[in-house]
Amino acid sequence: MLVDLHIHTKACGHAEGTIQEYVRVAQAVGLQQMGFSDHFPQYFLPMAHRDPRWAVPTMAGFREYIRAVQELQRETAQPEILIGVEVDYRPGWCERVRSLLRPFPLDYVIGSVHQIGDWAFDILADDEEYSRRDIADIYEEYFHIVCQAATSGLFDIIGHCDLIKKFGYRLPNGLAGHAERFAAACRAGGVAVEINTSGLRYPVQEVFPAQIILSALFAQNVPITFGSDAHRPEDVGRDLELAMHMAREAGYKKIATFRRRRREMVSWHD
Ligand SMILES: [Zn+2]
Ligand SMILES: [Zn+2]
Repeated sequence: MLVDLHIHTKACGHAEGTIQEYVRVAQAVGLQQMGFSDHFPQYFLPMAHRDPRWAVPTMAGFREYIRAVQELQRETAQPEILIGVEVDYRPGWCERVRSLLRPFPLDYVIGSVHQIGDWAFDILADDEEYSRRDIADIYEEYFHIVCQAATSGLFDIIGHCDLIKKFGYRLPNGLAGHAERFAAACRAGGVAVEINTSGLRYPVQEVFPAQIILSALFAQNVPITFGSDAHRPEDVGRDLELAMHMAREAGYKKIATFRRRRREMVSWHD
């Protein structure tokens, strides 16, 4: 079973192509399941903290995204199409996010951390902040927030869980401590973690998460799934062979997939 559960659409304003084009690539690479997971509006935040560039700008736009994917489901025989969402996790806004998500017929919710406080650390223009701060402190703060996301009960999947390495700023002493802590949080929170191949397309040139995190997740019995984080049709299903190889190396034989927020474990290599 080949799946890609992390795919954006142009509804978020920074992806390209029609959703039909994404489906054609999915068919060409032989996906059995593809899940759209566009960025949920930052509607839960006070106005001053919203940035319309990085998410579907309005709730009306989000409803339209859901309608478009539902229509696509009706007109597509293969692959199976799932409706997901990627939600920015911000400490303190859980209840608001929960009630905003409730009306939507979602198959799964990906929780991602893209900010530390007001610092959008995954945006190139803000890159110099990495040299201004202590790297160990940055990692500490980042993993603290990701662990909160994992135990928040809001999410089915944690997205690109070591995104903080995106621009190649690494911890000199490695990730072992964070890996253990994060894996324990995922187990406690009952979430799955995606292997997200988009890291290969960024300066770090490495899949999210690093192999050491994957091994810690396996040791804690935390399910995984696969995502390309495609923002253009040609990236659908990209580098999934490597993701599968890493999963196998860590010991995994099954992956998680979701329908109407119920998790199901499937074999990916038959
Ligand atoms: Zn993301
Ligand atoms: Zn994404």
